[in-house]
Amino acid sequence: MNMTKKRQRRIVVLSGDGIGPEIMKEALKVLEISGKRHDLRYELKVGFIGGAACDRFGVPFPEETKRLCVESDAVLLGSVGGSKWDNLPYEKRPEIGGLLDLRKTLKLYANIRPLIFYQELKEISPLSPSIINKGVDLVIVRELAGGIYFGQPKSLSADEGLDTMIYKREEVRRIATLAFQLASSRRKKVTSVDKANVLSSSMLWRRVVSEVALEFPGIEIRHMYVDNAAMQMILNPHQFDVILTTNLFGDILSDESAAISGSLGMLPSVSLGKANHLYEPAGGSAPDIAGKGIANPVAMILCIALMLDHSFGMQDASKEIFYSVGQIIKQGYRTRDIVSVNQKPVTTRAMGDAVCEFLFKL
Ligand code: NAD
Repeated sequence: MNMTKKRQRRIVVLSGDGIGPEIMKEALKVLEISGKRHDLRYELKVGFIGGAACDRFGVPFPEETKRLCVESDAVLLGSVGGSKWDNLPYEKRPEIGGLLDLRKTLKLYANIRPLIFYQELKEISPLSPSIINKGVDLVIVRELAGGIYFGQPKSLSADEGLDTMIYKREEVRRIATLAFQLASSRRKKVTSVDKANVLSSSMLWRRVVSEVALEFPGIEIRHMYVDNAAMQMILNPHQFDVILTTNLFGDILSDESAAISGSLGMLPSVSLGKANHLYEPAGGSAPDIAGKGIANPVAMILCIALMLDHSFGMQDASKEIFYSVGQIIKQGYRTRDIVSVNQKPVTTRAMGDAVCEFLFKL
């Protein structure tokens, strides 16, 4: 018997704003079934973050939520933000005082976002069949703790907005090492994306990535400017295996990769921290569809699969969830964001139920 599975895990649930609570509900149903199948003992602790926390406590990341996250084994996050809170002072905005503070608190340094492409959904990909038929299997490794989002000085006045893009050697080395390690278990290709023709921070980035590459002689390394990378992802995404990039460029390219898959609602991500990890969908709070029961819960459900794998070492349980999602897509279950012509969309809840039912019967 594997004793590591027996310890009670503390999972913090931060549903957040917009569609967050709706998709989280479905993901927790899947966790319950998977937990029973694999004898996972866990305790759920619910915390407030983002606009929901602002409304209740006047701050986007209350001390109690911070404490819960620090003491947890893993954190599940729905999403934060919405126009209701857009005019709050900078540091009180859900995305700044909530999300960025959460990342700082957990010392999250890497966001790993796999682009999982389902052949059955190729019709809804914006890419032409001649491109998408070659298949896409890439993962974006985005630096999360540094770069322009955190660089100081930072200021805003009526006449000037200032951000600082800065990278330190050790920050680049840490994320580059992770990307090369990941590539070792995949197709052994790393594409490092920067803007080294213009930005000093990127010149350092490229230099350090090249140094780290020497420690991984079996891995092919290629450097690409971000403007070209954005274009190549559309023209020939098949060429990429692991894309390694900075905080800002990763933010943008990972949404582009989600578009290739057909919907932001399909892609999960894990952010690695020093002590524990955070799991969140690629998309945001989707205010345009919040409260309507039509959001796609797949990304959040796959966050459970990633958590079982990365935080709890339960690879079989994780694979079962990926498999169940793949199978219900094959069976034709679609939320509104991924329907094609002549298909009838199902609700968030029905999509979650379909995954649960499939998983239960395995
Ligand atoms: P968004 O990702 O919320 O939505 C973009 C589009 O994708 C919308 O049309 C939305 O309906 C759709 N979409 C996203 N997730 C979906 C899902 N699960 N199912 C079906 N459709 C889905 O991005 P936005 O509109 O630019 O931002 C809305 C709010 O979310 C903003 O306040 C933004 O700051 C915030 N945001 C939060 C996070 C986060 O919490 N990690 C990330 C990005 C944006």
